[in-house]
Amino acid sequence: MTVHKKNIDEIEAVAKISLNVGARSLTYGILYDVGRAKTVSSIQLNYDDLNCISSKVQNINRQVGNQLAISFVDPRYSLHRNLMPNKEPDIVFCPGGTSRLAIRSDGLVFPCQYGFCDDKFATGSITKESIYQIWKSRRWKIFRGIPLQKLSQCSQCHASVDCRLKICRLMAYAASGDIFGVPPGCEWLKWHYSFNNARKEVLTNARKS
Ligand code: SF4
Repeated sequence: MTVHKKNIDEIEAVAKISLNVGARSLTYGILYDVGRAKTVSSIQLNYDDLNCISSKVQNINRQVGNQLAISFVDPRYSLHRNLMPNKEPDIVFCPGGTSRLAIRSDGLVFPCQYGFCDDKFATGSITKESIYQIWKSRRWKIFRGIPLQKLSQCSQCHASVDCRLKICRLMAYAASGDIFGVPPGCEWLKWHYSFNNARKEVLTNARKS
């Protein structure tokens, strides 16, 4: 489910439906102001909305236990080194195209919903091929591992090791037109990272003295 300002009240209902149909996992993605969403300011989320979504998702998580794997990444805290352990830290990939796909209402299949903005990221159509055939296609290659060196800004960034934002190549494309560019929120994250490190240093020095 892509959550935006007008469907926040449906978060719990979607979890109920997912349980009723026997789904094993449910992802709550949030609406970013990229692609077509950029033109609709009335559905953009603010800080309070993110607090509300986060608390709803945590409640659902507690209630459903092991029955449903709930996934939600709060974009304000995208420094999660251990969230997706990657045995090859120099290879960048995300669940889109590796453990997840998204089907648009016209049947076109994408690595995730953030690709809906551009048909060139469609990897097939369920009106012409089976999901299995589409999943096996080589058209997914770019989503299944990009060497970090190819991301010129991320590979030089001081926050790179801990930054989870960098894995979202479709967001980087939607925001900058460059699939090797940086996703929205990057500047804020870099600032937040530097601020935290500076604070840790001050506290450590204060303890020593
Ligand atoms: S903070 Fe920005 S430049 Fe640095 S790794 Fe993350 S997305 Fe890349």
